Amino acid sequence: MLKRVLVANRGEIAARILRACREMNIQTVAVFSEADRNALFTTLASQAVCIGPAAARESYLNQDAILAAACALRCDGIHPGFGFLSENADFARRVCDAQITFVGPSPEVIALLGDKNRARALMREHRLPTVPGSAGIIANVAEAREQAARCGYPVLLKAARGGGGRGMRRADCDAELADAFCAAEAEARSCFGASQLYLEKLIERPRHIEVQILADRHGNIAQLGDRDCTLQRNHQKVLEEAPAQVVNAKSRQAMADAAITAARAVGYENAGTVEFVVDADENYYFIEMNTRIQVEHPVTEMITGINIVREQLRVASGLPLSFTQKDVQLKGHAIECRINAEDPEHGFRPSPGHIDYLHLPSGFGVRVDTVLHPHFEVNPFYDSMIAKIIVHGRTRNEAICRMRRALEETLVSGVTTNIPLHYMLMYHPEFLANHLDTDFLERNLDQLLQPLGSEAVL
Ligand code: ADP
Repeated sequence: MLKRVLVANRGEIAARILRACREMNIQTVAVFSEADRNALFTTLASQAVCIGPAAARESYLNQDAILAAACALRCDGIHPGFGFLSENADFARRVCDAQITFVGPSPEVIALLGDKNRARALMREHRLPTVPGSAGIIANVAEAREQAARCGYPVLLKAARGGGGRGMRRADCDAELADAFCAAEAEARSCFGASQLYLEKLIERPRHIEVQILADRHGNIAQLGDRDCTLQRNHQKVLEEAPAQVVNAKSRQAMADAAITAARAVGYENAGTVEFVVDADENYYFIEMNTRIQVEHPVTEMITGINIVREQLRVASGLPLSFTQKDVQLKGHAIECRINAEDPEHGFRPSPGHIDYLHLPSGFGVRVDTVLHPHFEVNPFYDSMIAKIIVHGRTRNEAICRMRRALEETLVSGVTTNIPLHYMLMYHPEFLANHLDTDFLERNLDQLLQPLGSEAVL
């Protein structure tokens, strides 16, 4: 088993990993930027080291500083969490070269799946359904036009190295294609340093459904069921549920089988997520595979009882998974609300500041993943997510009622949050009926920002 793990991340996910290590008697090293000097997550580690100034590129993205800390403190593992360096194949390679275990798949697999265009081609070879579109990278607008004519508008131009919903533009007709191409290319170059684009048919009003998998070095691959992450803004998830309740049992099993096929195709090891978009007729299409722990992993943990981070640490230590596929029993329904310090009424602008009063929900079936405390400073340097509220119920309706009361109990003053938006969602008739698609939030934003009026009844 790994003996000392450095957690190359911050905030709630750093705490999540540090807690798992503690339960497994693994020593830990937290790294932090100057802006996080007093952050609670650093106190959950056996040791903590400052790795640089506030700017992420000088701290949480500073590979030299992180590797130097890991070597100096004789760590035998590095857990990257999500975001930052978690899907950086060069970093994973450097970690391995330093004789340290990277808690994730191999650098080769990260590089392969990080190239979404290559990943799609590979999955096609393995007979996974992929979204109709270009066979490979499209070099210019003329080629994009040809491909769009072939698969039909609307289309989506997507950055091959993209992530976080960036480097993606929609075009509804020929006239929009040149602008969409230039905008996607420019964003891809500035965000990812790689401007290559591919083209997909835009699946209209889809659902986003993904399958969690775990694989070990001994050839065991298990799937932990699916998650519905359809509620998004700017292609970024806002609320997630498990299990997905919209597709029939046959399609769900087909997606789960496809996820296992995808993992096997690349010799996957550790935790991974296979993402699909699903159209109104329940056709599903592979879009990408993420090679890290996901923000939304707790909903899967709630319905399976499996601690995914613990399994990641076991697998990285060379141990087999602690369970087999037949042990995976999905129980009840879970919902996660991502709580962000942002102002939905003003274009979702970030709302950093000093938290002067705080009360977090608890009680039966409620889990809160956060490092917030009274007098916490929400700093402006990083992602605005400050907490995840997760509930579990026997049914989706029970989970919704529980989430309503959990949100009612939550008091955060000093910064503006998206809690009222989540609360309104919990009463929206279309949410209650589970009639959702990835444009739902944008389309209903005005209504969701109104104070609660007539109540929907479950
Ligand atoms: P990223 O890696 O940036 O997260 P993804 O390929 O996972 O990008 O796509 C993010 C989101 O964009 C998806 O969850 C889905 O809502 C939307 N999306 C991606 N591809 C398509 C498509 N072909 N048609 C419709 N929506 C799509």
